[in-house]
Amino acid sequence: MNPNIAIIGGGPAGLVLAISLARRGIPSVIFEALDNPLNLEKYNPSRSYAIDITGHGLKAIRYIDAIKDFDEKLIAFDGMKVNGKLVTDWQEPGWIASRGDIVSVLTTIALEKHSDLIDIRFQHRVENIDVDAGTFDVQKEGEAALVSFGPYDLVVGSDGGGSCLREQAAEQEPAYQLTREDIGFYFKMLAMDRNTGDLEQNFLQVLSKKLLMVAGAINGPGGKEDPLWFSAVPYANDHRYSSLEDVKKDMQKRCPAILKYCSDEALSAFADLPAQNIGRITSASQLYAGKVVFLGDAAISYPPIGQGINGAMESAKVLDEAMIRHIKPGVDMRVAIKRAVHDYNAAWLPETKAVAWMGKRSNQSNRWHMIRGLILAVLNISAMDLIKSSTLSYSEAMRRTQKLGPVWWG
Ligand SMILES: Cc1cc2nc3c(=O)[nH]c(=O)nc-3n(C[C@H](O)[C@H](O)[C@H](O)COP(=O)(O)OP(=O)(O)OC[C@H]3O[C@@H](n4cnc5c(N)ncnc54)[C@H](O)[C@@H]3O)c2cc1C
Repeated sequence: MNPNIAIIGGGPAGLVLAISLARRGIPSVIFEALDNPLNLEKYNPSRSYAIDITGHGLKAIRYIDAIKDFDEKLIAFDGMKVNGKLVTDWQEPGWIASRGDIVSVLTTIALEKHSDLIDIRFQHRVENIDVDAGTFDVQKEGEAALVSFGPYDLVVGSDGGGSCLREQAAEQEPAYQLTREDIGFYFKMLAMDRNTGDLEQNFLQVLSKKLLMVAGAINGPGGKEDPLWFSAVPYANDHRYSSLEDVKKDMQKRCPAILKYCSDEALSAFADLPAQNIGRITSASQLYAGKVVFLGDAAISYPPIGQGINGAMESAKVLDEAMIRHIKPGVDMRVAIKRAVHDYNAAWLPETKAVAWMGKRSNQSNRWHMIRGLILAVLNISAMDLIKSSTLSYSEAMRRTQKLGPVWWG
């Protein structure tokens, strides 16, 4: 009675789905291009932003019954402060962590609690998918020959924002179409390496109102008791610094408070970092193609508004719930999976559109967007609070935000 499921990508979306299936006795195999995250550096200078796992992610963590695991390993999230003033008072369970910390917790759950049902093939990069047949090739690290896998009843594309499955699906399935936009939003991560003991690690901290720079702590080498601090610095283009003095001058303008927390070494290393383009939005006309269904960033990629991992994990929950509704004794597996995927698409596609709408209007490199966001936050009508809610859908958060009127149109 069990479907034969391959999950491509062992990030937050793929892992939450595999754990959800395993909790119902359904096996799956995950193909992950990289090594086991437990063997990798948990952070790197360009991807170690502090992510708050709140409403939408919390729904998924509750769904897989992993609150205790997250509490044990990750820094608790109590809210957000702007220049020391509390603007988000988070009363439910929540955590601040890097993607590496989150994926490590989920991988540990998969390997320790469900090793009989979840087979993770690390260092297996998927290529050449045939979306109708549900087959693909795999390049194993260190081996020259490709190995073919499948056919599977369902192939889950959870291979992230650079999804190669998405590109191949668009070539093979006329009804699956991609649209792309770039809103001009770049990012660099500034490591804060001194005086961080003065900051409260359970809060995300905006240290300046001038141009939003969100600082946060993530697990350090000794775990959550040994936090490392980073601040995300937004740019409207592929900005470069010519020297340490150049960085200092820019930070004096943007956020003088940050200089207290950064040594000259940290600022020099920051000067040399390339800016990452995170303003790209890739949306799809539907979230499936043939036997492939897309989750997380592979379903939609949009500029970060704190919802990438939260939404990725929730999308896995929504797909699992659709599978529960349709995969039943007496129903042909092909029919049941098709119905489940259509059901998932009907529920999650509008959510991807809503979150992209909010993302386009919350560009941290756009001064007007940030001034608007901060004024509304201080007035306690923050759109970001709506989007973090564990009771509202993204579509409902968008509708309520739209009710705030013309201030949100641009
Ligand atoms: C600068 C920046 C800031 C961000 N800030 C936030 C934030 O504040 N809050 C938040 O919630 N999110 C944030 N995000 C986004 C967040 O990291 C992603 O949205 C989230 O990790 C998506 O999860 P996922 O499981 O869909 O994909 P991913 O986490 O990208 O995982 C995909 C996995 O698939 C694997 N893979 C890729 N291709 C293949 C292949 N061909 N074969 C096999 N495996 C493959 C990859 O190795 C990876 O492990 C940010 C992202 C960036 C870049």
